[in-house]
Amino acid sequence: MHALVFQHIGQLSYERMPDPQLEADTDAIVQVHKTAVCGSDLHIYHGRETGLDAGTVMGHEFVGEIVACGSAVKQLRPGDRVASPFTTSCGQCFYCRRGLSCRCTQGQLYGWREGGAGLHGAQAEYVRVPLAESTLWKYPQDAEPELALLTGDILATAFYCADRAGLKPEGVYVVVGCGPVGLLTILAARERGAEQLFAIDAVPERLEKAAEFGAVPLNYQATDPKDHILAATSGRGADAVMEAVGSEAASRLAFSLLRPGGTLSVVGVHTSRQFAFSPTAAYDKNLTFCIGRCPARDYMETLYPLLHKLHTPLTSLITHHFPLSRGAEAYQLFDRKAGGCLKVILEPGGEAA
Ligand code: NAD
Ligand code: ZN
Repeated sequence: MHALVFQHIGQLSYERMPDPQLEADTDAIVQVHKTAVCGSDLHIYHGRETGLDAGTVMGHEFVGEIVACGSAVKQLRPGDRVASPFTTSCGQCFYCRRGLSCRCTQGQLYGWREGGAGLHGAQAEYVRVPLAESTLWKYPQDAEPELALLTGDILATAFYCADRAGLKPEGVYVVVGCGPVGLLTILAARERGAEQLFAIDAVPERLEKAAEFGAVPLNYQATDPKDHILAATSGRGADAVMEAVGSEAASRLAFSLLRPGGTLSVVGVHTSRQFAFSPTAAYDKNLTFCIGRCPARDYMETLYPLLHKLHTPLTSLITHHFPLSRGAEAYQLFDRKAGGCLKVILEPGGEAA
């Protein structure tokens, strides 16, 4: 098969790789129909997240069709169309039973191999799915594949971020970062009842989209967001801030916008060694702090009705399609946030669009 492979920081290549094989009787092999590039892929691409083996197939967002199943897979069969969360999960361990499938004791992250062990990613023609029955979602046939794909990572992550922010209709809320995750967090926060919502970024097209999705856009390079948040809250600060960036600067900004007793809900992947705010500052703010990987598997079915309800905004987020063979170019475009690029779909065997 062909796949998009990590070579070293800043370099991916489209390579011929061996087809994945069933390795356990709980595995399935999925032929990938569509796979997407995520902000999380950029942490690897830029070397902010380190340790990935050269030769690892990238990517963790995909939908496709099952082509082979191990003998213990009973509920799925070849021909089933499935979406996957970005981590695998057993559905039975301590964490899976508590809705934290992202910390499954047997779970693996697609596209992460280190020291020769781990799971190849899905930016490929085929991907091996361990624990297939509890990992994959056989989505209803009336769901569009590209929207089903969003449930396995960024749409679930957006709801996780909003759900942990303790939103109430009367509150004042902020989303920091208007990439695909931050923009979907705006939609999720509105679905969960937030009415007054600000959104911060510096990319004009992303701020326009934030406004379209119902937030007041603030360009942090042109204005001090704090002035606007204090003005909207009688000088107190926001009730909760949802951060979808994953940098010290964004973390510092998010913290600075919160009122005492406020909640900071972070889904941005952080790779620095210390917090951007001190324990003293957190204490003095009576901070509630939530951070971590989204248990996407726990959200997927519940998001299905929203694929219809939010069809127009969700579809508008998918701005580019590339054949997988031009994946490296797609990464560059997404990374530069050029040409209004938001979500890029890669299609194995597809033609340029
Ligand atoms: P992205 O890189 O497209 O978006 C990040 C956005 O933040 C960009 O629009 C950028 O302009 C903006 N930004 C950068 N610095 C900023 C600052 N100081 N203040 C405000 N905005 C700033 O990525 P994405 O796909 O939207 O993903 C966002 C984050 O979510 C990434 O860190 C990604 O790894 C993470 N993520 C986490 C989970 C999880 O389970 N927790 C799942 C998916 C993605
Ligand atoms: Zn992702």
